[in-house]
Amino acid sequence: MADKSSNVVWHTATVSRADREERNKHRSLVLWFTGLSASGKSTLAHAVEDTLHGMGCNTYVLDGDNVRHGLCSDLGFSLEDREENLRRVGETAKLMVEAGVLVLTAFISPLRKDRERVRSLFPHGDFLEIFCDASLDVCESRDPKGLYKRARAGEIGEFTGISSPYESPINPELRCDTGCDSVEANVEKVLAVLRERGIIQN
Ligand code: ADP
Repeated sequence: MADKSSNVVWHTATVSRADREERNKHRSLVLWFTGLSASGKSTLAHAVEDTLHGMGCNTYVLDGDNVRHGLCSDLGFSLEDREENLRRVGETAKLMVEAGVLVLTAFISPLRKDRERVRSLFPHGDFLEIFCDASLDVCESRDPKGLYKRARAGEIGEFTGISSPYESPINPELRCDTGCDSVEANVEKVLAVLRERGIIQN
């Protein structure tokens, strides 16, 4: 998108991200959950948030469906609109990371190039891609919102996995088998990565 604000000068904050992280007693970053519809992104992101919140961390889940009610309500599901959707979410997540928050995002984010573009907004190590890996068969059999059924009936166009592509991550920071493993087991895997990387202490 063209930059229409070239005369705007960045104002440096007096309270820095490091100040906020020190007070929070944890670091901030983005956990970017990607996968097919119904693969378990929201379920896992909210379960991880619940655990982190219980540990006293500052957290927030940016959820695909919720964002589309407000910030991105003008966008549809063409690949072009999905790209703009993710750009806005990426910029929002970046502000929240500056605010010291552990941000969890649950977006199908089907294309590698769009995920890589969001990754490039962040310093190395501040964006962790988590692949919620469940097969199309499993997702379709769950179909919690009846969307696959409607997509198969031709009532919804450009539906990921049916009539629109999904490109699996090649080298994600973490792969969770959300088709077979329990939510609890996958929460533990995510927390282990955060501990290993020194994002959280306990
Ligand atoms: P997404 O955000 O990827 O569209 P959701 O989290 O909204 O997916 O839906 C996933 C559905 O699958 C939920 O109804 C959830 O309860 C169910 N489910 C069953 N087993 C699992 C599992 N092991 N991990 C995650 N979700 C699961």
